[in-house]
Amino acid sequence: MSWAESWIVKELAEIKDAGLWRSFRSVQGAQEARVKINGREVVNLCSNNYLGLANHPRLHEAAQKAVKKFGCGGGASRLICGNNVLNDELEERLARFKREERALVFSTGYQANMGIIPVLTGRDGIIFSDRLNHASIIDGVRLSRSKARIYPHCDPAGLRKEVEEAGGYDRGLIVTESVFSMDGDIAPLAEIAQVAEEKGLMMMVDEAHATGVLGENGRGAVNEQGLAGELTAVMGTLGKALGSFGAYICGSNELIDLLINRSRTFIFTTSLPPAVLATAIEAIKLLETNDTLRRLLWANTKYFSKELVQLGFDVRVSESPIIPLMIGENDLTMEFCRRLLERDILIQGIRPPTVPKGSARLRITLMATHSREDLEKALEALKDIGRELHII
Ligand SMILES: *Cc1c(COP(=O)(O)O)cnc(C)c1O
Repeated sequence: MSWAESWIVKELAEIKDAGLWRSFRSVQGAQEARVKINGREVVNLCSNNYLGLANHPRLHEAAQKAVKKFGCGGGASRLICGNNVLNDELEERLARFKREERALVFSTGYQANMGIIPVLTGRDGIIFSDRLNHASIIDGVRLSRSKARIYPHCDPAGLRKEVEEAGGYDRGLIVTESVFSMDGDIAPLAEIAQVAEEKGLMMMVDEAHATGVLGENGRGAVNEQGLAGELTAVMGTLGKALGSFGAYICGSNELIDLLINRSRTFIFTTSLPPAVLATAIEAIKLLETNDTLRRLLWANTKYFSKELVQLGFDVRVSESPIIPLMIGENDLTMEFCRRLLERDILIQGIRPPTVPKGSARLRITLMATHSREDLEKALEALKDIGRELHII
């Protein structure tokens, strides 16, 4: 390392001193309710693979067939020669599944949010963004160079106040997640949509953690709250409950045409590989015809959150398979994590800047494929360590 780069060492030391050091744990094998880490089988309570589809036999088969027929790589961007027909099929299925006019597939959720927000508001617009929105939304807002106003979390009255204080603007957008990724609570979408309508604002919802989880057959919270086809844009990911990879945006025919022509994170990137597209298609087919996995997911969620409350943990309101077990302090959170792993339980600690300062937590996520035995083992460890560390 050269003298010119010595700042890197200093910066790394600062990260360590703040208790914010991040590093990997390597998973040896497929994404399942139990995974192998350092040769030991651990109960996995931190995956977004809510339905266990990431290693589902039907998705395997779809991927293998797609590789045989279409090969491995996407080849080029969609607008050059990378628009494999599986893209079209996936988009048609997604639009039908979400009950929206049309859908457009993006390479990742991060790119989808970064790609749409600047298109919607242009430089001179204004964006009203929930205080706890995901990093990809925050970066989309920044990239747009529009004015941004942060409204209090899931608070339509607070949002209305922000809008009224903001005064005049050309194009305005409200953006929120439906299920919040680190808190697991659900935005009051109908009330927010009412503010949007009253004030002549566009509205966009990120359904990364709602797709496959909420609404009829996993159609999402927008569907569940009766807003399908009513909003400017509904974004979601394919890499979480759907067990594949990538993301999509649903909206009007005109919106999708505009994105194809203007969205830089869509235009200037390689198409998803055929196997990824095929597994996403298969996941949607599976959800449309069979709700069993989703029911198992919810049964596990209800059981686990009830037990955590009974043990005396602060888990806030948990309205989804994401359960935040609040701790507060960074080091204590990571110590809890370490001790859990010694007991063969994998739950990640979440610290700032992913969550607000002073609100470090264990983020627990349930899966459809957890057995009762898995959950009991985890509860036992949580109880013992929670007491050792004086959290309960
Ligand atoms: C995971 C996530 C994303 C990003 O999606 P990727 O496909 O993983 O890039 C965007 N928004 C929210 C709320 C998320 O949780």
